[in-house]
Amino acid sequence: MQVRTRFAPSPTGYLHLGGLRTALYTYLFARKEGGKFILRIEDTDQEREVPGAIEKIYSSMRAAGLTYDEGPDVGGDYGPYIQSQRRDTYLPFAKKLVESGHAYYCFCTKERLDEARAEAEREGRTFKYDKHCLHMPKEEIQRRLEAGEPYVIRQNVPTEGRAGFDDVLYGRVEVDCSTLDDNVLIKADGLPTYNFANVIDDHLMGITHVMRGTEYLSSAPKYNLLYEAFGWQPPLYVHLPVVMRDQTRKLSKRYGDPSFEDLLEMGYLKEAIINFIALLGWSPRSEREFFTLKELEECFDLEGLNKSPSIFDMDKLTWFNAEYMRKLSFEEFYEKARPWLVRALGEDKFDLRRIAELLHNRTEVLNRIPEMVDFLAQMPQFENELYTHKKMKTNPDIARSALNGIRPVLEGVEEWTEAVLHDRVMEAIAQSGMKNGQVLWPLRIAISGKASTPGGAIEIAYLLGKEETLRRLDQSIANLG
Ligand code: GLU
Repeated sequence: MQVRTRFAPSPTGYLHLGGLRTALYTYLFARKEGGKFILRIEDTDQEREVPGAIEKIYSSMRAAGLTYDEGPDVGGDYGPYIQSQRRDTYLPFAKKLVESGHAYYCFCTKERLDEARAEAEREGRTFKYDKHCLHMPKEEIQRRLEAGEPYVIRQNVPTEGRAGFDDVLYGRVEVDCSTLDDNVLIKADGLPTYNFANVIDDHLMGITHVMRGTEYLSSAPKYNLLYEAFGWQPPLYVHLPVVMRDQTRKLSKRYGDPSFEDLLEMGYLKEAIINFIALLGWSPRSEREFFTLKELEECFDLEGLNKSPSIFDMDKLTWFNAEYMRKLSFEEFYEKARPWLVRALGEDKFDLRRIAELLHNRTEVLNRIPEMVDFLAQMPQFENELYTHKKMKTNPDIARSALNGIRPVLEGVEEWTEAVLHDRVMEAIAQSGMKNGQVLWPLRIAISGKASTPGGAIEIAYLLGKEETLRRLDQSIANLG
């Protein structure tokens, strides 16, 4: 049997991280098993559709590197892969169920249903449709259909017994049929509901394994009743636990949690995000933490899935990202860092390559670059207390004499390169009898205004150029009084 999996997002916005994880696992499982991975767009709830969301799904999948073998924009033998383009597919199947007694036409008005819902609420019950239309005589149904009355088709769930299915992760899941509602399968607009379309399409597309969030765990028994009614073999189900933001709440855009696209825009590397997401609910059962997508394709398995909810820890993601940053070659890093540097410092005022070299090992996320380098563009205000450093044995007084001593040395440098600067400054320090830190620390503070910078005094002096270095130095000496 060839494994066929599908990722079936609804185009209701951006790709959230829980969705990305479902997509990733679904993709990985297909790859590991040498199967096919399919993208299907579930847009039958047209009121919830957000314009442009379908394109965003394609671009996010591409950005993540999750190539699908079949899908709306790549084709395949089981298309169309957008449910609204399959609208004529579903009704004949629903009619089959009506014939076999597993479904029925319902003409109930919105008013009647609203009233029944309100009554249920008053009595503190969960609303269930009362099968009012189930026993309508055939002739009446025919007459009303011919008269063009609006209708829906509902699933006829047994009133007794139990329904269930086997989940790979959760085992046997069963519910009392008496708790199940006669869900709508075909809506008044002729489109199927998710409840129906997922069953029909998974079957018609030959899907062997369904991975999706646990929010569908409780409805899956009802879907299984549909498979039974058709006499079809259901796929294997793997429901995935939710991704939490912390102990108490789900990850959610509504609370400002980032989407996949947001993370990319912030300057997280897709490789780091994928690696991190892969471990949110799956474990290789070893201490190993680093995986490329290719490596995940080789070792992902259902046995490593975890049943308990996982927590999305932004600090952990940042840690992963920093590791991936360091692993980039310098050229790769420079290519990614350059736009951020240009934004902060302009195109041609500074030696951006040199700055990137200094940043490479200390950049956790690209969006932190501007705050790390903006002191080059503009000298920050600072308090003289910044010169105090116990380990360097400096304070404002020592700084005053160190800076006064080093100023003429810098002024005398003609060839303003790091090598020459280094030699001149070190010679002067040796002659002065001061410790390196007692000169270099104050000098760095005096021309950067910051306690921590990428690069030391020499690199920063070089980057600023002679004129600006001396200007800043004079200002800082004056501030010391
Ligand atoms: N369209 C559903 C969603 O976006 C997919 C559920 C499924 O994979 O069956 O949640």
